[in-house]
Amino acid sequence: MRAANLELCDLCGANEREFIFSTPRLNGPLVRCRDCSLYFVPSNGDASGVPTAASQMEWLSERALELDLVDPSVEERERPWRELAARERVEELLSFVASGRLLEVGCSTGEFLFASGNHFKATGIEADEGSSGVARSRGLHCLPGSLPEAHLEAEGFDVVALYHTIEHLPSPKRAVSEAQRLLRPGGWLVIETPDIGSPWFTILGARWRQFIPDHRYFFTQKTIRRLCIDAGFEVRSVRQVGKAMSTRLFASRVGRYSKRLGSALSILGARLGVEEKTLRLNLGDVMRLYAQKSGQESGGRG
Ligand SMILES: [Zn+2]
Repeated sequence: MRAANLELCDLCGANEREFIFSTPRLNGPLVRCRDCSLYFVPSNGDASGVPTAASQMEWLSERALELDLVDPSVEERERPWRELAARERVEELLSFVASGRLLEVGCSTGEFLFASGNHFKATGIEADEGSSGVARSRGLHCLPGSLPEAHLEAEGFDVVALYHTIEHLPSPKRAVSEAQRLLRPGGWLVIETPDIGSPWFTILGARWRQFIPDHRYFFTQKTIRRLCIDAGFEVRSVRQVGKAMSTRLFASRVGRYSKRLGSALSILGARLGVEEKTLRLNLGDVMRLYAQKSGQESGGRG
């Protein structure tokens, strides 16, 4: 597939890609780089009228609502489970690094920042103005805007974490290079993102739950490793992870596959009074990576 302004592959810089499919759930066609196999949605002119990262996010999340992919009332009530999932992420992180200065890119309303506060001096960055305002109102240190806009000092952090953020960014490569600059040698990078190498993508195709309009990049374990290694990291662990959620959110997510089944489960959950039960699901389509900045890398590059 060729377009007039062909965007080069963010991972390897090649310009040959194959068309996979088009779906209204994504903000353009899904393609795969012929050289490195990175899956992505090339940027197009659709969002050209919206200049800032914040307004673009708003525009994309409105599209997710139009497509009925998220239910705001369900998301709102999910906060206790987001807090539980955040505590579990912190617990796992502590097995790699015990303390220090931590930066979370894409910290949303700050559940992970809050949970990490007992062990780390935590800073967040959040482009969505509403969410970053909520994080600040909870007394958390959250910067507005995007990572390049933050102009943070080189080697000022022991941990840089991106939980379900990298797939939204205009350039994952730039973000990981910036994380490399911000980390001290030996510092830890954590990335959690959907795994398109999972059998669910093969089975469900365009109906896979991770296809939503604000997801632009889809990694396999191989391509996420390469992203980190190319930027000067040593990958210590990549594995598929699950997360805690309410029965209510589970029913809502099932609705992405089948509206009828999703609403049947919602009604059943309410009747049985189990909406507030905690499920721990590992569907095998989300992966979490831990990588360490190589010792010889001094950072601070131009
Ligand atoms: Zn490529």
